[in-house]
Amino acid sequence: MGHKVCDINELRTLPTGVKKPEFPVDIGEMHEGERVRKPQMHLEFGGLKAETKWELIRTRKEDEITDARVIIEGPDIPDLKEGGSYPLGILVEVAGKKVEKDIAGVLERRLHYFLNYIEGVMHVNQRYDIWIRFTKDAFNKGLNSLELWGKALIWLYKTSFPILEKVQITFFTEQKQVASNLDMAQEHWSERDERARNMTDEEADQFYACVMCQSFAPSHMCVITPNRTGSCGSISWFDARAAANIDPNGPNFAVPKGKVIDAEKGIYEGVDKVLQEKSLGEIQTCSIYSMFESPHTSCGCFEGIAFYIPELDGVAVVHRDYREKTVNGLSFAEMAANTSGGIQSPGFNGIAVEYLHSPRFLKPDGGWNRVVWLPSGIKERVANSIPKDIIDKISTEADVKNLAELKEFLIKKDHPVVKRWSKEEETKPEEPKAEAVEAAEETQIEIPAGSETVIRTPTMQLPTTGGFKIILKNAKITADKVIIKRLEKK
Ligand code: SF4
Repeated sequence: MGHKVCDINELRTLPTGVKKPEFPVDIGEMHEGERVRKPQMHLEFGGLKAETKWELIRTRKEDEITDARVIIEGPDIPDLKEGGSYPLGILVEVAGKKVEKDIAGVLERRLHYFLNYIEGVMHVNQRYDIWIRFTKDAFNKGLNSLELWGKALIWLYKTSFPILEKVQITFFTEQKQVASNLDMAQEHWSERDERARNMTDEEADQFYACVMCQSFAPSHMCVITPNRTGSCGSISWFDARAAANIDPNGPNFAVPKGKVIDAEKGIYEGVDKVLQEKSLGEIQTCSIYSMFESPHTSCGCFEGIAFYIPELDGVAVVHRDYREKTVNGLSFAEMAANTSGGIQSPGFNGIAVEYLHSPRFLKPDGGWNRVVWLPSGIKERVANSIPKDIIDKISTEADVKNLAELKEFLIKKDHPVVKRWSKEEETKPEEPKAEAVEAAEETQIEIPAGSETVIRTPTMQLPTTGGFKIILKNAKITADKVIIKRLEKK
């Protein structure tokens, strides 16, 4: 299959505020959050079944690209069988006199939002792990070529970022080409990530925030520091700084550190103030580096999860790409439900894989000395950042299959967490009496007829469909009966 080049003349040098060009489907923020289930789907790109998938933004010199050009390398939508899963690489190249390299990460993250703006299109994740579905309805309305996706993206990029004088998009759909260009994409991501590794949080005069995920998790704000990249792994401190310089009122903005409350835990007065404001009072304080004490919130598009294993008092990390059950018997997807939603979940922390390279990685919780398990793929990827004296004491799926085997492994390797067990034994509180435990299992409060019990909730998001959300602030809910049940231990 050869390649197809489409020059979209009506989009070339598009001035800001120009009328939206005609598209077969609607485009706008109201379509964000649409889910495309299998029966509604025309076909999908990326996701679990596609061998290779990625999306990348590259900044270019102005003479290197052609404005408003869409190139399709490989089969286009009409050539692909309905219901199938296909590889895809999306390369967006941008140029302009004021366009700096630093902006690439933030522009890349916008692909997630811009594709979700297209009616009937669902995009999740980022970088090497994208998953895009679109509906039969959108296809039947005329969204039947990647050329149209490119056209929509170019329009959205140029109207949202006037500094982009030229935008060229290439879609790779042929497996060999998607795979060979993935190596090129990996090089760009590594270069971006490594830049922030040479800087510490102390050296930064201020931090940055990202609230892009508030459309999905209203109280979530990523605090982006040199030592803690955005949870999706796509936005480093340098990326956020570049975005804030271009548009200080946009979703990335500066966060003054203010008074240092606790340098070890990463608690700053200035950060807390912005968090309180942006979470509408939901989050009062945050320890940037801890997963236990007022941890950083997690939205839903985190690249990995750091999770606590209470049985062994250790911490494990799993990334989105790891499809098996982890050592505690739960998969990434199962734990993601406990982690996401913009809440602080002590013991579950949505993180970027890049955070594992940080000298501040879970420092207040014991750092690497607390980590007992990692998928082998990630262990290999971050091996250079794991202290030499602990690396062989951290197990992977190749060493252990469950918690019993993990316990044996840790004892055999004399892992530092083993010392924590003996300390805990010494200070273990008295077991509660059997009757007290039973009474606490279920507390049922009967409300006398005719009286009113009011439950107050500071912020609550109602499940909705149709591209809008309802957030109740300071809601009062009346109920005839309240049942408080203890959740069974897994
Ligand atoms: S995960 Fe964080 S950094 Fe990434 S887009 Fe969402 S809010 Fe921004």
